[in-house]
Amino acid sequence: MGFLHSSAIFPVFLIFLFLFSWPITSSANSHEDFLRCLSSSLSSNDSSSISRLVYTQRSSNYTSVLESTIHNSRFITPTSRRPLVIVTPLHVSHVQATIRCSKKHGLQLRTRSGGHDFEGVSYVSEWEAPFVIVDLANLRSIDVDVEKEVAWVQSGAIMGELYYAIAQKIRTLAFPGALCHGVAFGGFISSGGYGRILNRKSVGEDLFWAIRGGGGGSFGTALSWKVKLVRVPEIVTVFSTSRTLEQNATRLLHRWQYITNQFPDGMFPSITLTTTNTTVDDRNRTVVATFNTMYLGRANELVPLMQNVFPELGITTQDCNEMSFVESILVLGLLPLENLEILLNRSYRIPYLVATPSFKAKSDYIKKPIPEIGFLGMWPQLLEPVARTVSSAA
Ligand SMILES: Cc1cc2nc3c(=O)[nH]c(=O)nc-3n(C[C@H](O)[C@H](O)[C@H](O)COP(=O)(O)OP(=O)(O)OC[C@H]3O[C@@H](n4cnc5c(N)ncnc54)[C@H](O)[C@@H]3O)c2cc1C
Repeated sequence: MGFLHSSAIFPVFLIFLFLFSWPITSSANSHEDFLRCLSSSLSSNDSSSISRLVYTQRSSNYTSVLESTIHNSRFITPTSRRPLVIVTPLHVSHVQATIRCSKKHGLQLRTRSGGHDFEGVSYVSEWEAPFVIVDLANLRSIDVDVEKEVAWVQSGAIMGELYYAIAQKIRTLAFPGALCHGVAFGGFISSGGYGRILNRKSVGEDLFWAIRGGGGGSFGTALSWKVKLVRVPEIVTVFSTSRTLEQNATRLLHRWQYITNQFPDGMFPSITLTTTNTTVDDRNRTVVATFNTMYLGRANELVPLMQNVFPELGITTQDCNEMSFVESILVLGLLPLENLEILLNRSYRIPYLVATPSFKAKSDYIKKPIPEIGFLGMWPQLLEPVARTVSSAA
C-alpha cells in the first residue's frame, strides 16, 4: 500500500461548515427525541423517506450500513461502542437537521465519508457518550470542468470515482490523490498534513477563513470541495521491480534515500517491503523490496534517467510499461488493469487488505536517511509469522 500525499492538492473552497458543540449530558431517551427532532426538521416529503436515511440499532440493516466502510476488524469487536443512530443524508438539509438535532439532544456526532480513518474515529467513540454517525456516502456528486481545469467534489465521493470521472472527460488532466481508490474525499482532504504549523499569515487569508473550525471531523462537516486539476501527459510510464535480501535489497534501499531528490518533479517513486510468503516455519522466507515508480513521460526518457541516477537498480525498457495516468493509478493501487470501472466499486478490497482484516497503520515522515543497520534491524520483525508490510513514498 503506498501513500501519495497531497502536496499537489488545492482545496480551494470548503462551502459548508457547521459549527457545533454539545452539552455532555444526555438522557436515555435522547435518541428517540433525536429521531422525533429529525423527523420534524425534514420537509414533509423527506419525512416519508426517513427510513431510507436513518438506521437505529433496531433497523435490520443497521449492522450492514455501519460496517459498510469499516476496513479494520479491530473496531468491530463485541466491546466496540456503536452509534445509537446512523444518518445517511441524501441532501444538504439532512446534514443540517442531523447536526441541529444532535446538538439539541446531547448526542455526539461523528462525520464519516469513506471510513478509512486509521483509528476509526469517524465511527467509533472512546467515550461513554452516545453518538450519531452522519455518513456522507450518498453525497458524492462530482463535476469536472475541463475548461477551467477544476472539479467540484462532494465529500462522500471516493478517490476512484474522481479518477474515473476525470478520465471519462479527458486523459490529460488528473487529480493526484490516494492510491487506495476507496479513500473518500472528505477525510482525505480534511485530515493529515506535513506537521508544519501554519498561522493565518502563512496559510493565506482565503484558506484561513475557509477552513476555520473545520478538518478531521472535529468541529464541522465539510460537504463539497473545489479542487484544482493538474495537467498530465497522455502517456505516462510505470516500472515495478523487486529485489530480495539476497539480491542486495538492503543496500539498494539505503541508497534509494540518497538519490530520490535527484528525480524530476513528475516522478512518484515508492517502495513496498513485504515477505515472500507467510508460512511460519519456512526457513527460506525473505524480505522483498518492490520499487514502484510512476513517471509523467515516456519510457525512453525514464530509462536513461534511472540509469544515470540509480544504475544499481538496473532498470531497462523491459521493466517499463506505458499507459494513461488513470491506468497508472490501477497499477500502483494494485487493481486489475483491464477494468477501469473497478475504480467505482466501493466495496472492492485488494487481496492484500482482505488478507489483513485487522491492522495498525501509521504515516510518518523520515527527516534523516535510515542507516543500513536500521534496515537490518527491521528485517527480523518483518519476518515474524505475523504479516507486516512497510511502504514508503519518497
Ligand atoms: C486501507 C487504507 C488505505 C489508505 N490509502 C491511502 C492512500 O493510498 N493515500 C493516502 O494519502 N491515504 C491513504 N489512507 C489514509 C486516508 O487517506 C485517511 O485516513 C483519510 O482521512 C480517510 O478519509 P475517509 O473519508 O475515507 O475516512 P473517514 O474515516 O470517513 O474520515 C477520516 C477523518 O476525517 C473526518 N471527516 C471525514 N469526512 C469529513 C467531512 N466531510 N468533514 C469533516 N471531517 C470529515 C472524519 O471524522 C475522520 O476524523 C488509507 C487508509 C486506509 C485505512
